[in-house]
Amino acid sequence: MSDWSSKEAAPAPRMISLLELDDAVCRWPVTEAGENTGFCGHATGGKPPYCPYHRDKAHGEGTSAEQAALKNLKRIMHR
Ligand SMILES: [Zn+2]
Repeated sequence: MSDWSSKEAAPAPRMISLLELDDAVCRWPVTEAGENTGFCGHATGGKPPYCPYHRDKAHGEGTSAEQAALKNLKRIMHR
């Protein structure tokens, strides 16, 4: 598995679409919200909803842009 940490650069996103999300892939929104939001898409390793890198980031504060993206994701998912 991976040993990504928050000090390393983000893994190159696969930019999968909302329709491709499931518990096996990371649903961290890579782009700002909207119909065409792209998601990280890396394997969650059995611990959804994020890959190891984004799980680590999600536990931290995150940037304001990331916080906004997560809010938008929730809005999309509940539509
Ligand atoms: Zn991820």
